[in-house]
Amino acid sequence: MPFVSGSYQSPKLEFRAISPRERGVFARRAIRKGEILTVSGGLMLPYQKVRTLPWRLRRLSFHIENGFYLVPPRGRRVAMGFYVNHSCAPNAGDRDGWYALSLFALRPIRRGEEVTCDYRTVVIPGDRRYRPLLKFRCRCGARNCSGVIRA
Ligand SMILES: [Zn+2]
Repeated sequence: MPFVSGSYQSPKLEFRAISPRERGVFARRAIRKGEILTVSGGLMLPYQKVRTLPWRLRRLSFHIENGFYLVPPRGRRVAMGFYVNHSCAPNAGDRDGWYALSLFALRPIRRGEEVTCDYRTVVIPGDRRYRPLLKFRCRCGARNCSGVIRA
């Protein structure tokens, strides 16, 4: 089902458990470079509102622009675009920095491979209203891994 709670998600994607506490988005079929994977929709809220949300919603939200964040619609199924995990060497992203809501395949993605994106791209240089929502130690294993990620 490609449309979930106001978002698009490619039928080639699926949720999978990574550990008892973690899940991720995986390719159920091979994906070509440039394919649109997700286009996320939801509530657009300023930082002052997002910071008061329960952690389970806040941790899925991400910055769009001007200090506004996209939050999954409350009380509805959360689309996969909100669950894509971070990697410092991602296989999906916003293509040239022009897109905030869409995730594209940056290279061919093999069947069974986890889909990842770079959370650091939510930081827009010079956007003084931006405040990070997340801080975590990255375990992506990439040679260029930043270690601690704030996004
Ligand atoms: Zn990393």
